Amino acid sequence: MKRYAFFRILQCMSEQHQKPLPVRFDPINFAHHGRELEGPIATKGMLRLRENVVTSNDLVSAKLNFSRGLYGYPLVTGQVKASVTMRCERCLDEVQVDLNPDISILVKSEEDTLPGNEGEKDTDRHEFYGYDGKTLKLSDLIEEELLLALPLVPKHQDISLCNQDVVAWLAANDAPDERQEASIERADNPFAILKSAD
Ligand SMILES: [Zn+2]
Repeated sequence: MKRYAFFRILQCMSEQHQKPLPVRFDPINFAHHGRELEGPIATKGMLRLRENVVTSNDLVSAKLNFSRGLYGYPLVTGQVKASVTMRCERCLDEVQVDLNPDISILVKSEEDTLPGNEGEKDTDRHEFYGYDGKTLKLSDLIEEELLLALPLVPKHQDISLCNQDVVAWLAANDAPDERQEASIERADNPFAILKSAD
């Protein structure tokens, strides 16, 4: 009984925590008020992400802070956590990939041009995200960050985690070095084609 009550409290806390985040908002207003956002974001509409992975969780979690950054542009900092599966390029089985990018992005209207030469050094060091100047769609920004965090060559961390039938086949077929191995696999991997088309 006690245990049940304890779990119920935990559940309530997490439900409270899981309040849906705003879909669209004015980033300038958020930066002005130093807003913080924490919670789940649906990946349903993240079509580019879904094209680049085999499966993705329905929700990713984000913790974001808004403040004023360079030239007064809204600065978004924080972390996103997502888990996706991709195709291992060594054995072609699915491999789980945890994405945990740190975010530090200046948000600016797409029409805004950055101040002239004297600012060049500063702007080089920052990542910018363009929006329509009115409202920012949170899932677009998160999707962009997750795409950047995807590994170029997804692989099981260790060959012992790979599909051992494929590993044995590769060994039996005398794949002399990993580079050749990888290029054979890449040609067989439909996701590699998608990737090179980008
Ligand atoms: Zn593998």
